[in-house]
Amino acid sequence: MTQFLLVTDLDNTLVGDDRALDKLNQRLTQCRQVNGVKLVYSTGRSITSYQKLSTEVNLLEPDVLITAVGTEIYYPGKVLDQKWTTQSSAGWNRDAIVAITQQFPQLVPQPESEQRSLKVSFLLDAEDAHILPDLEAKIKHQGVDAQLIYSSNQDLDILSSRANKGNALAYIQQVLGFEFDRTIACGDSGNDIALFEQKTLGVIMGNAQPELLQWHHKNLSDDRYLAQGFCAAGILEGLQYFGFLQ
Ligand SMILES: [Mg+2]
Repeated sequence: MTQFLLVTDLDNTLVGDDRALDKLNQRLTQCRQVNGVKLVYSTGRSITSYQKLSTEVNLLEPDVLITAVGTEIYYPGKVLDQKWTTQSSAGWNRDAIVAITQQFPQLVPQPESEQRSLKVSFLLDAEDAHILPDLEAKIKHQGVDAQLIYSSNQDLDILSSRANKGNALAYIQQVLGFEFDRTIACGDSGNDIALFEQKTLGVIMGNAQPELLQWHHKNLSDDRYLAQGFCAAGILEGLQYFGFLQ
């Protein structure tokens, strides 16, 4: 067993199959004790929503928690990485984004807990997704530095262009001192594409959403593995494929 950095999405990646999760947790607990393996969760959820999930599902305490699609980074004890927040704020204008989105009645705001300082989130039906280019053009026209991430045919996140799951992964690689060939990222949907665009090994779940599979097939790489297993079983399969676990 070697030391590695595991960066995993939660919903429908780590979480979704309780038996497979228990099995993976056992293996990871061993690896963390013996080899100093580091565990990072990277989720679209807010910290509030993450804490709720952690009371419902058997999750190991991560070394680093990346929430709100990469816009916030926490260390154990809910310690926010202020440096990350500050550097991610450059060019971001939340009020301007909110004003522009009010012109689109198809956008239904997500709960208040999911609206964050560097992220504004909506529900958007797949049949209304045709508004996205227009929305993006209006944001660009105002000169706001933002990115739109549409996942699972329902979640639209508009966030600072400096902060997404991928940029947060690159930052954490530096903070913890892991090279790309010792980093493994796991995901299942559109907001995980940013993870796989970084220099990292990657595992896509067998249950991945069409938008991620489509991207994967267009951007094939020897550093990325499409698992057959679903959720935690897919992560275990990927760790074995890359030789991190037997
Ligand atoms: Mg997911």
